[in-house]
Amino acid sequence: MDSYDHRVLGPRLDLFHQQEEAPGAAFWHPRGATLYRLIESYLFSEMRRANFREVRTPQLLSRSLWERSGHWDKFGANIFVFNDEDRSYALKPMSCPGHVQLFRQQIRSYRDLPLRYCEFGACHRYEPSGALHGLMRGRAFTQDDAHVFCLPVHVEGEVSRFCALLRRVYARFGFQDFVVGFSTRPSVRAGSDAAWDRAEGMLAAAALSAALEFRHQPGEGAFYGPKLEFILGDRDDREWQCGTIQLDLVLPERLDAEVIDASGAPVRPIMLHQAVLGSIERFMAILLEHHRGQLPFWLAPDQIAVAPVSAGQFDFARTVAETFAAAGLRCQIYDADETLARRVLAAHDCGIPMFVTVGAKEASAGTVSIREPNGRRCVRTLSEATEWFKAETLAAPPMRALGSIPGLGDDVPRSGTQFGADADGT
Ligand SMILES: [Zn+2]
Repeated sequence: MDSYDHRVLGPRLDLFHQQEEAPGAAFWHPRGATLYRLIESYLFSEMRRANFREVRTPQLLSRSLWERSGHWDKFGANIFVFNDEDRSYALKPMSCPGHVQLFRQQIRSYRDLPLRYCEFGACHRYEPSGALHGLMRGRAFTQDDAHVFCLPVHVEGEVSRFCALLRRVYARFGFQDFVVGFSTRPSVRAGSDAAWDRAEGMLAAAALSAALEFRHQPGEGAFYGPKLEFILGDRDDREWQCGTIQLDLVLPERLDAEVIDASGAPVRPIMLHQAVLGSIERFMAILLEHHRGQLPFWLAPDQIAVAPVSAGQFDFARTVAETFAAAGLRCQIYDADETLARRVLAAHDCGIPMFVTVGAKEASAGTVSIREPNGRRCVRTLSEATEWFKAETLAAPPMRALGSIPGLGDDVPRSGTQFGADADGT
């Protein structure tokens, strides 16, 4: 397997592992859980900025709801089912029908629209064992599922705003370009041809109004409506379909969602389904492979390695690490009985972008010596370095997971035991 395959990088960077007892699912190690939370927190902050409200809907929903929505006919073979004494339930493969239930909880006026919900929904889909591929294709994943309930007049604005959101988020993760596919009616579908004409016309007009250039993908739409699909290009020129926005006239009808229009009559809202990343797990795999495991500073689970040159500087190294952690930075002390060069290499192999050295001169002057990912070196005072690292991190939106210094208790782990396995690597 390629050494930059995420299935190799995950265990090597101590992010996650998979094992036979949980096919298609991952066990997240502390560093991987940190990365997962950073991605989720960042995306959630962007969704909040775009006026989405976070919701949560049940994992298990009666099979009858999936039959009414049409998902059972289309995806029944991929849905995990559980039975109690008298009913059958499905483990949700997506969050759409759940969000319609939220919409239906009140009488909605046209003045309430657009109504925007988002959920980082834990979803499960049965995939044959031969189709499983690390985090790229699993049975358990988290979908950044969002739905906008709106009227025809809102569609263009929603699509434009969604495109701006995608551009911002993808650029933040280091992807500058994407191509767009416009997927139209599949052969097996719900809804009349007239409804499809209308849905495709509205979505195409919105895409043009957002100045999107797109390629046609006939027959690739969802069973309930046409889709715009956003396909990222990575550094190996591979294409990954991640984002999507889909225009749906079918589910509001099937699940009986209504809104009172300006004349006082009930009408069906339009439902826009959207996802920026698709599956967080799959996106993480794409991200790791794209960056060869060397994630940008704001996203690195451990951002800074702090290394005392010799035992005499350990106290100052601890002060440095505590100062960084208090500023919300994530760091590790690299205090192995190894040469500094070996420790730099070990930190690099673990994907830690910044390497901070403290020797006798630095300890007496209250400075730190910084080695940046590009190899450039500089010396700064501790407070200058802290402000600089903070500014680098805060260039990204606020995060939920703040820094910690694992191992700063009495029993300080050595990098040799925690990270040393790859110290002799590339
Ligand atoms: Zn949906």
